Parts: sequence; C-alpha cells; structure tokens
Amino acid sequence: MDLVITIDGPAGAGKTTTARGVAAALGYRYLDTGALYRGLALAALRAGAGDAGSPAALAAVRAVRMEPYWEGDGMGIRLDGEDVTGAIRAEEVTRLVSPLSAIPAVREILLPVQRKEGEHGRLVADGRDTGSVIFPDARLKVFLTADLEERARRRSLELAASGIVRNHAEVRREIEERDRRDSSRSLAPLIFPEGGVEVDTTGMTIREQIDAIVALARERGA
Ligand code: C5P
Repeated sequence: MDLVITIDGPAGAGKTTTARGVAAALGYRYLDTGALYRGLALAALRAGAGDAGSPAALAAVRAVRMEPYWEGDGMGIRLDGEDVTGAIRAEEVTRLVSPLSAIPAVREILLPVQRKEGEHGRLVADGRDTGSVIFPDARLKVFLTADLEERARRRSLELAASGIVRNHAEVRREIEERDRRDSSRSLAPLIFPEGGVEVDTTGMTIREQIDAIVALARERGA
C-alpha cells in the first residue's frame, strides 16, 4: 500500500536523519517540511527583513520562488534558481525560522506545497504539524522525542560536524526556547497528533530509530 508517514517532534530528536532513512528503506520520497520554512526564513533575511512580524518579511516570502528538489535520498531547496540547501542551516536562519513560521500567512503559503507531495502516497514527511494539520489522515503518524539533554548533545555534534563549536548549555537553551515557541503558538503548534505513536529515541542509535519506524510502517501495510 502507498502510505503517507508523518514524523513530528521537538528540535534535535533526529527527525530529519530518521525520516530520510525511513524513506530510503521503503523506497518512498522524503519531504523535509522544516527546510521549506527555513527557505522562506532565508529569503526574508536576504531581503534585509530580520524581523519576522514585519511587512517586509512577508513581502519577501511572498516574492521568492522556492522549489524543493530531490537528489539521492535527500531533499534540497532552491530560491529563485539558486541552490540554498546548505545556507538554510545557518544559525541566523535557525533563529528566525521559528517566529516566522508562527505567522498564519507563512503557513498558508506552504500548506498546498506540502499537500501536493502527499497526493500519491509513498511519502515520509517530517516537521511539527505534518500529522496534525498537513496529513491528518496519514496511515502512520510518529511523534519522535528524546530527552532535552540528549537532543542538545545531538545538536552540538551536528553543529561540530559542520565546523561550528558552541557552548553546550547555550545550545540546550536555544532548543528549549524553539520548542517552547513551536509548542505554544496558536496556529499548528507542535502537538502529539491524534492517533499518533510516540517513539522515544533517548539512547537509541539512528539505525534503531529507522528500524523501529520501518517496522511500524510494515505493520500498516507499507
Ligand atoms: O525541523 P527544523 O528544525 O528544520 O524546523 C525549523 C523550524 O521550522 C521549526 O523550529 C519550526 O518553527 C518550523 N516548522 C514548522 N512546521 C513544520 C516544520 C518546521 O513550524 N512542519
């Protein structure tokens, strides 16, 4: 059966790597919805609109032409034809994306973009509201968690891998702050989706996380 699988959860739970691995194991397409929000945040920054609530920020996200593309088992982003897959991971993008994604008009822009990818099933989407809002009828909705300390440790390692050395306590504080924002916004907050399955990845390897979700997907007919 051609399933849609959603993987939501707080920052640093390993959603992106896990979702990509699950998609590769099943031969499905992977949709990184966070990358779409990051793309719009980068567009705002490049337009000099670092204040998420400003009219200039909204004008910038409306004006940009954003295209996701797929290569190997990953998903990349182009803005007005330029490949920004690496640039959307910059720390200033990470800081702007959470307040920007709380703006209704921004979520409205991305809703049809995401739904279109799920039309024919065979999709693994990861984000914050993919199970609750974007694909409420998905056959498998995973809520991926890990305790805060472990998520901060993973994020520090990820940053170190791209050459950024940061204070661990600071990374933990930023993750906490982003989760608080993402969970408390009024529109499409990060919540446990109805009918969802929690997978607590504290102490699990990425391989174990992928295998656990693939097993759940198989139970549901993937
Ligand atoms: O998953 P990632 O860390 O790349 O997501 C970046 C930000 O984009 C999140 O902190 C959240 O504010 C926003 N986001 C969202 N809804 C999604 C995916 C991401 O609001 N479905």
